[in-house]
Amino acid sequence: MEREITGFHRDANADWVAELVCGHGQHVRHDPPFRERPWVTSPGGRATRLGKTLPCALCDRRVLPEGFAPYRRTPVFDETTLPGALQSAHTTKTGVWALIHVERGEIGYHVGGEAPEDEVLRPGAPGVVPATVEHHLVLRGPMACWVEFWRAPDRSVERARME
Ligand SMILES: [Zn+2]
Repeated sequence: MEREITGFHRDANADWVAELVCGHGQHVRHDPPFRERPWVTSPGGRATRLGKTLPCALCDRRVLPEGFAPYRRTPVFDETTLPGALQSAHTTKTGVWALIHVERGEIGYHVGGEAPEDEVLRPGAPGVVPATVEHHLVLRGPMACWVEFWRAPDRSVERARME
């Protein structure tokens, strides 16, 4: 899916990496004649790409960004206490992913966006919610589930220092 560029950094080999809104990084090398990206070599050139999008294959496969860690979770809900907000279309915040853990029974999970998909979640195989992608849960009967939120650990450290 298309993801906005939020920043850039260099990797250990000094190659440029675009930081995406989802938390994934993607190499944007200027390596002529194979890859022509002269814009990446100057601060002004990079600035023109902020807010533009790149296709993110890791988001398509719903792979949690490397280094992300859980920082918050909901209580355990059952079919009578599952909040309505989770049963209508909603999204996580920028840079926040979620895992939907089912402890008992099963629940439907609809992921929207560019490639909508329906899944049935069961114990042992959490549903993965990519950052900012619209989704909702669909009750199918008795169940117990909870939601765990993940983000980049450096941000949680910053937040803890500020609080
Ligand atoms: Zn991504």
